[in-house]
Amino acid sequence: PYTGPSADEILAKRKQYLSPAVFHLYSKPLNIVAGKRQYLFDENGRRYLDGFAGIAVVGCGHAHPDVVQAIVDQLNRVQHSTVMYLNHAITDFAEALAAKMPGNLKVIFFTNSGTEANELAMMMTRLYTGSNDIISLRNGYHGNGSATMGATAMCTWKYNVAQSGIQHALNPDPYRGEFGSDGKRYAKDVEELIQYGTSGRIAGFFSEAIQGVGGIVELAPGYLPVAYDIVRKAGGLCVADEIQSGYARTGSHFWAFESHGVIPDIVTMAKGIGNGIPLGAVITTPEIAQVLVSRAYYNTYGGNPLCTAAGLAVLKVIEKEKLQENAFVVGSYMKERLAALKEKFELIGDVRGRGLILGVELVTDRKLKTPAGKEIVHIMNQMKELGVLIGKGGHHGNVFRITPPLCFTKEDADFLVDAMDYTISKM
Ligand code: PMP
Repeated sequence: PYTGPSADEILAKRKQYLSPAVFHLYSKPLNIVAGKRQYLFDENGRRYLDGFAGIAVVGCGHAHPDVVQAIVDQLNRVQHSTVMYLNHAITDFAEALAAKMPGNLKVIFFTNSGTEANELAMMMTRLYTGSNDIISLRNGYHGNGSATMGATAMCTWKYNVAQSGIQHALNPDPYRGEFGSDGKRYAKDVEELIQYGTSGRIAGFFSEAIQGVGGIVELAPGYLPVAYDIVRKAGGLCVADEIQSGYARTGSHFWAFESHGVIPDIVTMAKGIGNGIPLGAVITTPEIAQVLVSRAYYNTYGGNPLCTAAGLAVLKVIEKEKLQENAFVVGSYMKERLAALKEKFELIGDVRGRGLILGVELVTDRKLKTPAGKEIVHIMNQMKELGVLIGKGGHHGNVFRITPPLCFTKEDADFLVDAMDYTISKM
C-alpha cells in the first residue's frame, strides 16, 4: 500500500514550488501512485480506467513488464549521451523504426520531446528549401518552442512573443469547417496563402492527420493529397506531425497520414513512442537529412541508450501483442457505441476519430453547435467518480478526447461508454 504524502499535501507543495502556469485535469486532482496496463491507481488503491493515456503512453499500457525490464537492463549497463560514443541501443531502435516507415523515409534524428522534434523539422524545411515561410493548419498543436508555438494555431497555447514566418490555413474540419467534408475546397486556401502571403516559394507545410489537442479533428478526406501537391509545387516540404495520432493508434494504419494516401517528406513523433519515457524523433529521407551536415548538430540526450532501449521494447510489444489490430477492433467498436449515444443525447453533436483516438463533441444546440463547456467539465468529473478517466480538448474545450492505451479491451470500451451514458442520463 501507498505510504507517501496525500493528494492535498502534494497539491500544496505543487502550488508553492511549481510554476503557477501548471494546470490539472480535475477540480479535485488525482494523485496517481501506480499504473498497470490500462489502469491507474490513486493513493487509496482505487482503480481507474485510463481513457486518456495517449497524451504520454502509447500502446503497451502502464508499467508493461517487457518495457520496464528493457529500461532496467539498460540502466544497469550504461546510460549516457550517444553523441560522442557508439551504442547499439540507438541503432537497434533506429533500424526497427525505419522499417515502419513508407517510401524513402529512412533517416532518423532522435529528440527528447515532440516540441523538439517539430522545432528540428521546421528548421530542416527552411534549410533544405532556402525559404522561410511555413504553413500550418488552424486548430493545430505543434509544440511550445518559439517556432513550434508559431505553428500552433490556438490562442490558448500562444504567448505574444515572436513567432515569425508562419501562416495558418483554413482547417479542413468536417464538423465545423465551412466546406464540410470537401477536402479539396479547403486545400485551395493553402494555394491562396502561398499566392497572397508569401513570395510564392515556401519552406514547408505542417499538419496532424487527426488533431489531438484541437479536439480529435480528422482532416476532411481528399485534403492532404491536394494540399501536398500545392505545397510541393511551391518548393515546400510536407511534414506530418504524428506525435499524438501516429504509432498504431488509428488501428487501420501505423501512421495516421497513411489513411490519406500521402507520403510526407518528414515525419515527427514523440509521446507514446517511448511509452512514457521522454523520446521523440524526426524521420526523413537521406537527401533531406543532409541539410544538417553543414554545421555540427547534436542533442545531448536525444536517442540516449535508456530511451531508445525503451523505444525498441515498446515497438516489440506493439507487434507481439498485435496492438494495432486491437486498436482497430476495439476502437471501431467503441466508436459505434459512442455513435449510438449520439442518437440518444442531443448534447452530443459529433462523434469522430478512428481506432483508439476518438472524439465526442458536446453542444447545447445542435444547429448552432454551441460549445457545451460547463457540461463537459461536469461529465468528466462525474466519470472520474465512476472510475473512468478521459480527456478534453478542442478550441472551445468541449470535446472529449478518448485515447486509451492500445491494450484497451471491448469490456473497457463498454465500461467507458456506459459511464458516459449513465452520467449524461443523470444530468
Ligand atoms: N505535436 C502534437 C500533435 C502534440 O499533441 C504535442 C503535445 N501535445 C506536441 C506536438 C508537443 O509535444 P511535447 O509536449 O512532447 O513537446
